[in-house]
Amino acid sequence: MVADTWIQRSSERTRLVGDWLQRHQRAIRGLQWCVVAMYLVLVAVPALLPLPDRSAHLWSNITLAAQFVFWGIWWPFVLLSMIVVGRSWCGFFCPEGTLTEFASRHGWGFRLPRWITWGGWPFIAFAGTTVYGQMVSVYQYPKPVVLVLGGSTVAAIVIGLLYGRNKRVWCRFLCPVNGVFALLAKLSPLHFRVDEAAWNVSQRDGLHPTRVIDCAPLVPIRTMRGAGACHMCGKCSGFRDAVSLSARSPNHEIVNVAGQHANPWETVLILFGLLGLALGAFQWSASPWFVEIKQALAELLVDHGFVWPLEATAPWWMLTNYPAQNDVLTLLDGFVLVSYMLATAATMGLGLGAILAAATRAAGAWSWPRFHHFAQALVPLAGCGVFLGLSALSVTLLRSEGLALSWVGAARLALLSGATLWSVFLAWRIAGLSASGLRRVASTCCVTLAALFACSGWVLLFWGW
Ligand code: SF4
Repeated sequence: MVADTWIQRSSERTRLVGDWLQRHQRAIRGLQWCVVAMYLVLVAVPALLPLPDRSAHLWSNITLAAQFVFWGIWWPFVLLSMIVVGRSWCGFFCPEGTLTEFASRHGWGFRLPRWITWGGWPFIAFAGTTVYGQMVSVYQYPKPVVLVLGGSTVAAIVIGLLYGRNKRVWCRFLCPVNGVFALLAKLSPLHFRVDEAAWNVSQRDGLHPTRVIDCAPLVPIRTMRGAGACHMCGKCSGFRDAVSLSARSPNHEIVNVAGQHANPWETVLILFGLLGLALGAFQWSASPWFVEIKQALAELLVDHGFVWPLEATAPWWMLTNYPAQNDVLTLLDGFVLVSYMLATAATMGLGLGAILAAATRAAGAWSWPRFHHFAQALVPLAGCGVFLGLSALSVTLLRSEGLALSWVGAARLALLSGATLWSVFLAWRIAGLSASGLRRVASTCCVTLAALFACSGWVLLFWGW
């Protein structure tokens, strides 16, 4: 009751913020172009400079500064912002969004081909960039940044030139982090709420006949029920007196909306992508298993007279190759690296899938929608894991500058515990939609087991090895 009153009061204030955004689109565009300029400098300039030596510091070397800004601040806090203010990053700041929309305004405006709208792209694009990024050490070196981020930006511009008019086709269907952002934004306490009854009345009475909303990420506004696809740009605020920026419970969308739109690809992204592949990507360089597997394979190869995979290398744009930095991956390293990430994805994905299947069955007769709904309960944990993985780089960079950061371990534990409890609470609410009594308890226990299994990889990384 208290929460409802608070949400109602907050919604009055947020509605005004939404209307303010709607009236200040020019200022938002100005801000977007400032971010584009900053982004281009941070991507391009370090690639033109020599790599920093051991005496370089964050505050005196632009390459280290760009590395820290991109991977240490930008990415972890963009992820965090999704949970706090939805996809505002996409609507206000994302340089690729700005560039693809601009290109689309001046491009050919072809109709969308069917392949673009395939639901598997968010997972495939995320998995592809994660694996490739690790192969070329994108977090460590500036040239791979040009290749990965710059390549993605060029692709966004090309798609903008080809398809749609004033649209963000790239963001809606192909952006490698679109799926991740859409999942995390479901936890946001802010969203643009659509009052369908007010919309119908407005349409019936012929109100606002001239106002047209050009939603760049192609959201069907009238039927919008969640924050996953909306870029929070504010253009539609106040439309037909039915759309307004509103506060809501952070649990609302996962519990009440996500189950009605069961999406197998979202489940794959959560279980195999965020809780599997991403874990492997952050884990492999610290993993004793990685070293053991590599040594065993090396011995096997030598025993059979195949020494070349232990010596052969590849160009830097295929596999990390920086002899001056004493950082070179052989073909064997590359093979084990990719295999490690894929094996982690398969182990976590299949293991979590099996436990969620048990949760689904415990709640009643088998139901795919319920299975996918339970997977959504793990979104807080999935987001937390990727945030911890990315922020580990910030911690490493700051520690190399002499900062002790002794509180980091406790903060990680608190975040992981909080995210686990949140996931368990969501599972309890989801289970309550179709089960009660012992069945509800049993299915929640299964999801708790899945959450603990998902945590185990991060516990090993931060405290086990
Ligand atoms: S639905 Fe579209 S127009 Fe409305 S705020 Fe979201 S992105 Fe902007």
